[in-house]
Amino acid sequence: MTRDLILFGPPGAGKGTQGALLAERLGLLRLSTGDVLRDAVRRGTAMGREAQRYMDAGDLVPDDVIIGIVRDYLAGEAADTGVIFDGFPRTLPQAKRLDDLLEELNRPLQAVLVLEVESDVLIKRLSGRRSCAGCGATYNVYFDPPREEGLCDRCGAALSQRADDDPATVQRRLAVYAEQTEPLIVHYRKSDTDVHHIDGEQSVDHVQRELVELLEE
Ligand code: AMP
Repeated sequence: MTRDLILFGPPGAGKGTQGALLAERLGLLRLSTGDVLRDAVRRGTAMGREAQRYMDAGDLVPDDVIIGIVRDYLAGEAADTGVIFDGFPRTLPQAKRLDDLLEELNRPLQAVLVLEVESDVLIKRLSGRRSCAGCGATYNVYFDPPREEGLCDRCGAALSQRADDDPATVQRRLAVYAEQTEPLIVHYRKSDTDVHHIDGEQSVDHVQRELVELLEE
């Protein structure tokens, strides 16, 4: 039986980092709808062109676009493998469509894992985030700065910032989370699915250990 999980939490809570580690450890796939959309933007596809204006503003991409991504993924790559959903669902209609889809496919949702981080920490994590286009190394100007400002320690290439990590867009993304996404926790509490809350301000290793322990229980 497949084992599907939702990794839930505000932007900057560590869903990407924890999801990748957890997927590797548990032999699951990770679906980040944000990564799929960024890839579509980079490749200039019709979906990417439609999504970009919402993403640049820090707003949500329309539900139908997102559901299409998830439906295709569950019918294809993930047909026989459990999935960690990262950054999905983000609205009540998305959550309800996911419920229907998983029921149709006879894939009961195993758990919702909520990473909790205070907003002042989120703002620093997001607005301080930098990455190297050359080798993929990541930095944070507040918590983990490169030795030389703006340059990668590993390969010397220039560091860049995600378009939606500028301070104004970060504020908007956090507001959108509070208004449209956080209320979904109530939706899952009312369902049969287990909902766990984890302190996402602990170290990466500590958070990972807690997640694994919860899932092994
Ligand atoms: P993320 O990388 O998860 O922070 O997502 C980056 C951006 O992609 C978001 O700010 C939204 O514009 C868009 N996005 C990603 N996932 C979703 C989703 N499930 N629903 C709507 N928009 C999304």
